[in-house]
Amino acid sequence: MTDAAKDHPPVAIESVPRRHLPRLTDENTFFWQAGRTGRLHFTRCDACEFYVHPPLPICPRCKSRQVAPRAVSGKATVVSYTINHQVWERGLEAPYLIAIVEIAEQLCLRLTTNLVNCAPEEARIGMAVRVLFDHREDVWLPLFEPDVDPTST
Ligand SMILES: [Zn+2]
Repeated sequence: MTDAAKDHPPVAIESVPRRHLPRLTDENTFFWQAGRTGRLHFTRCDACEFYVHPPLPICPRCKSRQVAPRAVSGKATVVSYTINHQVWERGLEAPYLIAIVEIAEQLCLRLTTNLVNCAPEEARIGMAVRVLFDHREDVWLPLFEPDVDPTST
């Protein structure tokens, strides 16, 4: 553990603010409830194998309607991140990490998420991360943590 990590312990999953949960629709319920299965899912076109996010009923690449939720590995890479130090609402804890991650299965398949189990000072662009889920009410929020073994499946 580095000195920075001692001063600022890893951001724990419980500390990430979750006041506003996503509104579930017919198109996105599979995405927000995929954590129930333990696997991250995205809509994928079965005709051309293109992942589509946010979910759409038609593939924007080949116009096929053969799109359906498919599981991915849950592996990703940090594309960008910011450390939030501001307590925006009473009861929230700072600092926490907001990140954009690119899903391993496809270039530019990205999620805005929170990095957890990671000291703010140890976050890096390009770092390997993996999904974990934060179950709140009827949604399973996909969060990401450092992937200690990026070669595993
Ligand atoms: Zn397609």
